[in-house]
Amino acid sequence: MSTTTMQDQARFSAEDCATVVLASFACRACLAAPDLISLKGRPGARSATSCCPRCGTLNRVTMSDAQAFQLWTLQRGNTFVHFAPEYW
Ligand SMILES: [Zn+2]
Repeated sequence: MSTTTMQDQARFSAEDCATVVLASFACRACLAAPDLISLKGRPGARSATSCCPRCGTLNRVTMSDAQAFQLWTLQRGNTFVHFAPEYW
């Protein structure tokens, strides 16, 4: 089985609410919400990766340090965010 990888840039800003922020991580192929987001990367090179629970597409979203911090402090509902410990 081949996995498609989609790359994008996070589009939310500091004023956006949780719903808008999490919408940045919806699957690029089918718009399903991720159940797990893995956040990696050094300061200045943060990226979030999630595997779509519906279609299996790998979605990768790059973001600023401020956006990563916002994701960290967010009320994330049913979406679990894993922070790779070596980077924090
Ligand atoms: Zn999908």
